[in-house]
Amino acid sequence: MPAKNIEELIALCKRRGFIFQSNEIYGGTQGLYDYGPLGVELKSNLKNAWWKSIVYERDDVEGLDAAILTKNTVLKHSGHEDTFSDPMVDCKSCGERFRADQVPDYCKKEDLTEPRQFNLMFKTNIGPVDDGKSFAYLRPETAQSIFTNFKNVVDSTARTVPFGIAQMGKAFRNEITLKSFIFRVREFEQMELEFFVRPGDDDKWHKSWVESRLQWWKDQGISDMSLELYDVPADELAHYSKATVDIMYKFPHGVEELEGVANRTDFDLGSHSKNQKELNIKANVLNNNESNSKLALQDENNNWFVPFVIEPSAGVDRGVLAILNEAYSVEEIDGKERVVLKLKPHLAPIKAAVMPLKKNDENIVSLAKKVKDNLQKLGLGRILFENSGNIGKNYRRHDEVGTPVCITVDFESLDNQTVTVRDRDTMKQERISLDKISEHLKKIV
Ligand code: ATP
Repeated sequence: MPAKNIEELIALCKRRGFIFQSNEIYGGTQGLYDYGPLGVELKSNLKNAWWKSIVYERDDVEGLDAAILTKNTVLKHSGHEDTFSDPMVDCKSCGERFRADQVPDYCKKEDLTEPRQFNLMFKTNIGPVDDGKSFAYLRPETAQSIFTNFKNVVDSTARTVPFGIAQMGKAFRNEITLKSFIFRVREFEQMELEFFVRPGDDDKWHKSWVESRLQWWKDQGISDMSLELYDVPADELAHYSKATVDIMYKFPHGVEELEGVANRTDFDLGSHSKNQKELNIKANVLNNNESNSKLALQDENNNWFVPFVIEPSAGVDRGVLAILNEAYSVEEIDGKERVVLKLKPHLAPIKAAVMPLKKNDENIVSLAKKVKDNLQKLGLGRILFENSGNIGKNYRRHDEVGTPVCITVDFESLDNQTVTVRDRDTMKQERISLDKISEHLKKIV
């Protein structure tokens, strides 16, 4: 059962150390959030799951980790300088500024100014001289550096279509209207794949990527009922897109985009390529640009063609929010509330908590530490040695942060080398022999 409202989730995130407002001790900054001790684990588990499924489990995708600061010419030719803007209005009555399509009900139409375009990119300067020319942008999407590295990757890996380049990392947008916790923020992370295909095969690959990405979100624990697909109508498509299907999630504030799967045609490689006329680029982007690279491939007959690209682009932060919301559940146990985060074990920030029944019994504590050290070596993720002593409270706290199992070392453990393993979801406890505990945890996680 997802959270009743966003406030419940925000409270849990702060209380247990998943997510904090940035610069909180100085009053906070709108649209910026920091991931705390558990948030950093959850986020990195989600990103690892994506990388594993997109790069490791396929044989047709390569990885990339490019610079965030992006030369202005790149974003000029990509179209972002001209088109990456939102219409902005001011309300003369409340004095606030909004994205034109996101004006709250309390503002009257007659109080709003005419919409004007506001570019969402953050500008900065590279080097000590501010000559007005050498400025850069903080990238508004990770995609562009994939296109600008296209030839490098092709040359170094001998890839030909169909193949993809994947990248995860920060993106920045100076959003006008912020929304719902980490849903719409100014600094966020994306997980983007640019999958290059032969022109003509693009529709087929687009469909196949929509299906595979939808399934992946289900594999992360998001129920069928909370997900839907939205075929973006022609008049809402981004400047580069021939077709886009958004994977929508039922967020606490409404059904909104979690990931977009776009058919970007040959627009981007075309825009960044030299010899555009000769290449007969379908998206018709003659930028007359300064690129020194021909971003094209040769077919069997040695004819040059510019690959089309299918782009599944997911937001890490929106993913974290969806997953937390989906996992959040409140149960009544013996008249008391139990909050449980029913995270898929591979996403759980802590895979197991090992606790000695008596915090000042040397033998029990040292055996518990040994158990922790051995389990940590399995490489499954974080195993926590928990020595606060109150087992009942520990169980509840670990339920709340989604730890799949709690392992308790007690007096019996010293005698017969067994421990108590408690399952987060069923709350059932079983005694497991120490030599079987690694296998048990591996099976769960
Ligand atoms: P929206 O219309 O909701 O602003 P978008 O269509 O502009 O999203 P894309 O440019 O397609 O988003 O970016 C791909 C993904 O990056 C989105 O599906 C979303 O998960 C994530 N994303 C985009 N903007 C933000 C933001 N400001 N904060 C958090 N995540 C974002």
